Amino acid sequence: MIVAGPGVSREDLVNMQPEHDTFVGVDSDGCVFDTMEVKQKQCFHPVIIAHWHLEPIGKYVRQTAEFVNLYSKWRGTNRFRALKILFDLLAEREEVQQSGVKLPATEALGRFIESGVALGNPALAQAVAQTADPDLDSLLRWSEAVNAEVARVARNVPAFAWAKEGLERISAHSDAICVSQTPGEALMREWQQHELAPCVRVIAGQELGTKAEQLALAAAGKYGAGRVLMIGDALGDLEAARACRALFFPIGPGHEAECWQRFCEEGYGRFLAGDFAGSYETALIEGFKTLLPETPPWSR
Ligand SMILES: [Mg+2]
Repeated sequence: MIVAGPGVSREDLVNMQPEHDTFVGVDSDGCVFDTMEVKQKQCFHPVIIAHWHLEPIGKYVRQTAEFVNLYSKWRGTNRFRALKILFDLLAEREEVQQSGVKLPATEALGRFIESGVALGNPALAQAVAQTADPDLDSLLRWSEAVNAEVARVARNVPAFAWAKEGLERISAHSDAICVSQTPGEALMREWQQHELAPCVRVIAGQELGTKAEQLALAAAGKYGAGRVLMIGDALGDLEAARACRALFFPIGPGHEAECWQRFCEEGYGRFLAGDFAGSYETALIEGFKTLLPETPPWSR
């Protein structure tokens, strides 16, 4: 049975019964779809600047936000965590300090992040209702504005070459789910639009918890050692995989099509054959890490 859609719950992941002896979790943004640049540069970053009136330092906000969300070890981080990292990095920048522009307070954001809830709009709306905190309310309005802008702007962004081929191969031999920190309704729209939804059994968005939680709920205890694989484009995807003892196939930012081709022609076959862990996976991950640095270019 295909279970997918915004109405999906954590129980749907827990109740997934293996139909194959292998499991594959696939991230969506920047991994299957070429959406990262459009969503970040045209939706997240302009809305951050407008919402918190950061126009005078817009150049530095954009540069810092692009580093955090696209070209660093934080690529793919949950939007609320990424926002806190952005404001913290901005606070350290000399140009920002000299501008005299006041950055938004991050205490309430920090408490929300550390509260242990699934970091999505439903939990945030609940926190706003419970605390009436104006900073949290502002955060929620920002997050809703981002969703509206993503729905308006990021339409019909194509899947990377070879990604559909890869997903079709996966669905023939493995139990697959989409593992993502994007809101479920946006995921559903994108996966249906490109006829990829039938390739996975569940489409999991940010409302279902972290990627590691999603993987654990769907796969823990159901498959043998070396029979669970995560495919992603960010270090957070790698960490989620490791937290669940899953193997990892990276889709390198800027090299997506060639990575998917390699997955189709080589990686997936090796995974199915039990010939993936070890030097093959290590070499893939080493190459991947060089694309996602920790130090910002302006402080090198
Ligand atoms: Mg991603």
